[in-house]
Amino acid sequence: MHAFQFPTHIQGLKPYVPGLPIEHVAQQIGMDSDDVIKLASNENPLGASPKALQALAQAAIDLSRYPDADISNLSATLAKHHDIPADWVVVGAGSEAVLGMVTSTMLCPGRSAVFSEYSFQAFVNGVQRSGGKAVLVPSPDLTVDLQGLREAIRADTTLVYVANPGNPTGTLLEPSAIHEFLSHVPSHVVVMLDEAYHEYVPSARRGDAIKWVRQFPNLIVTRTFSKAYGLAGLRVGYGVSQKPLADMLKRVRAPFSVTHASQVAAAAALADTDFLAQTITSNTDAKQLLEVSLERMELQYLKSYTNFVLVKVGSGASVASALKSAGIIVRPVDNYALTEWVRISIGNNREVQRLVKVLEGLMPLFKL
Ligand SMILES: *Cc1c(COP(=O)(O)O)cnc(C)c1O
Repeated sequence: MHAFQFPTHIQGLKPYVPGLPIEHVAQQIGMDSDDVIKLASNENPLGASPKALQALAQAAIDLSRYPDADISNLSATLAKHHDIPADWVVVGAGSEAVLGMVTSTMLCPGRSAVFSEYSFQAFVNGVQRSGGKAVLVPSPDLTVDLQGLREAIRADTTLVYVANPGNPTGTLLEPSAIHEFLSHVPSHVVVMLDEAYHEYVPSARRGDAIKWVRQFPNLIVTRTFSKAYGLAGLRVGYGVSQKPLADMLKRVRAPFSVTHASQVAAAAALADTDFLAQTITSNTDAKQLLEVSLERMELQYLKSYTNFVLVKVGSGASVASALKSAGIIVRPVDNYALTEWVRISIGNNREVQRLVKVLEGLMPLFKL
C-alpha cells in the first residue's frame, strides 16, 4: 500500500511491452546468448552502418560536454536531405520521443486524439499520459480506415494519428488516399503521420509526405533511425512540420535528451546510402523467403511493407512461448488484442530459415 494520489490518467497507464532481450531469454532457457535470435523488435539484422559506427567511436572520445541542445548539425543535415528549412526539423530521442512531444503539445484533459485500432502502443501510451481522450476507430480488416478517422473527428479533437505502414500490422495506405484525407481534416487538427518504416516501402508505392508538409501546416511526418538505419540502441528520430508547430514541439522536448554521439552517428548513417540499400535488399530477400514458407505451411499472414510480418498462428502466446524455448524471440501481440497472431521481424536469411524450421516442427503440436 502507498499513500500517493496519482492522477487518474496516470493510474490508467499500461506498461509498454517490449520484445524480450536476448540475454534475458538465454538465461531463462539455459542457452548461449549467441544461439538466441531476436525477431521481436524490428531491428536491422545487418547491424548499423559502418560509417555511423566510426562517427560514434570518434564521438565517444569526449563525453564530458553536454550535447548541442538545438541539435543544429543533424537538423541541418536532415533539412538538406529533405530540401526543407532547418527549422522544420524536430529531432528527438527516438521518434517515440517525437510522438510524445506531439501528444504533450496537442492534448490535455478535455481534448481528444483520433486513431485507428491496432495503433502503435507507444503512441497510445502518449495519449494516455497527456490526460487526453482516445477516440478509437475500428479496423476490422487490419488496415487504417481513413474515412472512419475523418468521421470520428469531434469538436474536442486536436490530434489524429496515422502510422503508414502500420505497426503491428505492416499494412500500407495509398498515397492518394492519404492526400485526400489530409485535405479534409480541419486545419486546427494536427495530423501525425508516422513513417517509421518508410525506407522499406518500394518507391513505386511511396507517397512524398515531406512534400505534403509544405501544403498542410497541420501535418507532421515522423521518421526514425531505429529501423532501416540500424540505430535503435542510440535513440534518434525526427519530425518534419512547418515552423509554428515545430517551434512549439521544441519547447516541449526534454533538453539534452539527444546525446552528442546520437547526433553525429545519425548524420553519418544518413549519408551511408550503400548500407541502406544493402538493408533493403536483405530485407526483401528474407521477407520473401518467409512469405513463401508461410504459404507452404498454409499460415495466413498480412502482406507487409515493413521489416516484420504479422502471422496468424492460432494462439500467439503459446506459439511465441514454444519458439522462445527453441531460442527464437518473436512478439506476441495480445496487448493489441490480436491473440491469434504473432509479429515476426525479418532477420537475415539464416535466421528466417531457422525460424521456419522450428515453426514447421511446431505445426502438429499447435495444429497451425
Ligand atoms: C519502431 C517504431 C517507431 C520508432 O521508434 P523509435 O522511438 O524511433 O525507436 C515509431 N513508430 C512506429 C510505428 C514504430 O513501429
